Amino acid sequence: MKTPPPFFSLLKLATALLLGSLAMHTTDSDDVTFSLRDSLTFHDLLDAGRDFGHRYRLPPAAVFHPKSPSDVAAAVGHIFRMGRRSELTVAARGRGHSLHGQAQAPGGIVIQMGSLKSTLTRVHAGAGKVPYADVAGGELWINLLRETLKHGLAPRSWTDYLHLTVGGTLSNAGVSGQAFRHGPQISNVRQLEVVTGRGELLNCSEKENPDLFHAALGGLGQFGIITRAQIVLEPAPKMVRWIRVLYEDFAAFTEDQEMLISAEKTFDYVEGFVMVNRTGILNNWRSSFYPQDPLRAAQFDYDGKTLFCLEMAKNFNPTAAQLAHQEVEELLSRLRHVRSTVFQTEVTYVEFLDRVHASAEKLRSKGLWEVPHPWLNLFVPASRIVDFAGEVFGKIWDNRTSAVIPDEEIFYLVGFLHSAPPADGGAGNLRRALAQNERILSFCRSAGIKAKQYLPHYTISSEWMTHFGLRWETVVRRKMAYDPMAILAPGQRIFQKGL
Ligand code: FAD
Repeated sequence: MKTPPPFFSLLKLATALLLGSLAMHTTDSDDVTFSLRDSLTFHDLLDAGRDFGHRYRLPPAAVFHPKSPSDVAAAVGHIFRMGRRSELTVAARGRGHSLHGQAQAPGGIVIQMGSLKSTLTRVHAGAGKVPYADVAGGELWINLLRETLKHGLAPRSWTDYLHLTVGGTLSNAGVSGQAFRHGPQISNVRQLEVVTGRGELLNCSEKENPDLFHAALGGLGQFGIITRAQIVLEPAPKMVRWIRVLYEDFAAFTEDQEMLISAEKTFDYVEGFVMVNRTGILNNWRSSFYPQDPLRAAQFDYDGKTLFCLEMAKNFNPTAAQLAHQEVEELLSRLRHVRSTVFQTEVTYVEFLDRVHASAEKLRSKGLWEVPHPWLNLFVPASRIVDFAGEVFGKIWDNRTSAVIPDEEIFYLVGFLHSAPPADGGAGNLRRALAQNERILSFCRSAGIKAKQYLPHYTISSEWMTHFGLRWETVVRRKMAYDPMAILAPGQRIFQKGL
């Protein structure tokens, strides 16, 4: 018989300890704890110890599948009451689309928030009131969209990819090309239901427990587990005109973006991306985007260039299509892109919002999705572009939430979204991408650019203190108030459970 690897025995030991600790509390009068034991699984530890980043693999001792928010409260409360007698920590896991083990709880308990998603999403749309959806924290944004569309409504602010959970993105910020109009997703929440690190199940909003509300939004899971959220909705458009134009000149590219996001009448979505030496780009887009001027677009020399692509979208309903098209033409006429490079298409609202999913599925089918992703996302201050600051980000980013942004009022979110497939040089690619990330960060430090990481990853507390800056005191105060034993989200590596 083969001897199991030592890692396996460690896991078994941890499991035994956990069951032992629960059993200690399982008496005839303790039905709650008994029912919790039924919701623990041990066959899925390796899956619960993985994430999208594919760099950290730290399995928990058990995976918990709550049936209700009260189950979550009972589990966390149980561990809280065990105090220093237990080393257990708890990580809520949305879809595990974190990059650096943030949703992992080494040797602790991972709570699969997806088990709560069968709890119905309820849409509230009374006359004269701002409509909202009441949704489970483990629900995917794509499912929330499908449900709200049945009522002709949709959330206002998105991420580029919708197969992420409500609680997961609200624990970060939730940013996409609509953020300049509506703020990030954390600015579009009416109320939360949260389980704190003390095991209390509390509602919070601007009016009720406001400190907990702001702490949990963008709170990296540190102050509570979001079991439900009320998300503000708006009437959903049926169609989207989706446009891409190219720039050779970076200054024109950024100035046009800034003009668009500060204009009163503008697009509903604006994002930019950089394409380095992408030959055959036209061929890539041909299946979905139509050049406005096919002949001149074909003549434009794309090869070997660094090009900047501005991506814009205008929502419309078929009855007002003509007006929307006029507005688009007027806006495009004000831009300074390479004239021959206007590419457009029309898709349904769902097709537009769910656009990344198709590419994700393609990568998955080629085995290129489950690979290391050494991503780096930075909020970079744009100190030269202050004119419209008050009108744009300054107003829509709520400084009371836990999310951290640069001190300046205007900033860009710059994402370096590498992947390192094994077939493509694997470890070498990963090393190169990580070294490049480090070079970028070290350049920011030496040039005095006060960039802030989005989806931040640090390993020592002094780096976290620098990240939070003046807000560090608030972070510590909130941690002491809502999770004094440091039970929650240990994978962020901000606080360590003291024994
Ligand atoms: P997880 O990775 O499972 O969890 C993230 C963190 O939140 C962990 O610390 C976890 O413990 C905690 N957590 C999870 N659920 C809860 C809860 N209910 N309550 C409290 N804490 C919780 N982000 C953007 O802002 N914009 C984008 O456009 C965007 N695009 C992306 C595209 C892809 C392909 C991927 C992989 C990620 C993208 N992200 C984007 C990042 C995304 O916001 C994060 O991955 C986020 O963590 C959500 O993933 P998740 O739901 O799987 O959460």
